[in-house]
Amino acid sequence: MHIVLKGRKAVVTGSTAGIGRAIAEGLARAGASVVINGRSEERVATALREIKALFPETEFAGIVADLSTLEGAATLVAEAPDADILVNNVGTARPKSFFDLVDEDWLDLFQLNVMSGVRAARHYVPKMIGRGWGRVVFISSESGLAIPKEMIDYGMTKTAQLAISRGLAEAVGGTGVTVNSVIPGPTNSEILSNWMKATAQSQGITQQEAEQDFLRTMRPTTLLNRFTSTEEVANMVLYVCSEQASGTTGAALRVDGGVLRSIG
Ligand code: NAD
Repeated sequence: MHIVLKGRKAVVTGSTAGIGRAIAEGLARAGASVVINGRSEERVATALREIKALFPETEFAGIVADLSTLEGAATLVAEAPDADILVNNVGTARPKSFFDLVDEDWLDLFQLNVMSGVRAARHYVPKMIGRGWGRVVFISSESGLAIPKEMIDYGMTKTAQLAISRGLAEAVGGTGVTVNSVIPGPTNSEILSNWMKATAQSQGITQQEAEQDFLRTMRPTTLLNRFTSTEEVANMVLYVCSEQASGTTGAALRVDGGVLRSIG
């Protein structure tokens, strides 16, 4: 299958690093013009420079906006008013006991992981419907289906994304716009890789050993026995954004290395 997205405009939130960056590169490789987003001028400029060097023919824009805020969402849509493809990737997690999480922790994470996608979809999807074509992808997590006890707030946001994605797919049925979510498992993104590096340093072990410990203790149901790469996740996103994926909507597609044991 040859995926071609020439002429399509894509917005990928949180795309200076990690999974978002790999998605941005995948979409660019398929010929789409891509909007990169991050919080700092410097990181956005660096990502833009690096990605332009890889794809000199492709059109890119960089938008500095903190998508945990309403102002950030307004900046995004003011600078990129239109998109054929929206990948709601931005999100984060910080392990903390349920009993230590204060109200602001819950609300702050909800703003970033959930409301960023709600706000972006509310802006872009009506125009996609008007053109009769669009692709919306929410990057959820296996933590949205198997809630981790050390990140219940994160699990809550990732379940919420699955609900929003399915509901929005229902709302836009028959319009040519598809809405899906992708469910990564432990992935070697910037944040998880930094976490594993820090664990390795503090325990005097290698990063690979730290990853194996993590899988053994936190994700023992993995079938891969390794973290997935950001490219492996991006490949699924690229497919679901393609013309060829026109029959897939309202779905939650897994790239979780088999961590989730249920079939359905
Ligand atoms: P990452 O931290 O490696 O990259 C996140 C990107 O988002 C960076 O470019 C960062 O600069 C940007 N960003 C962070 N906060 C932002 C904000 N407020 N406004 C704008 N940009 C912001 O993260 P990742 O691991 O690649 O995660 C990407 C998505 O994948 C998240 O939604 C995450 O929940 C999901 N996910 C990750 C994993 C994993 O193991 N890494 C597993 C399942 C799901």
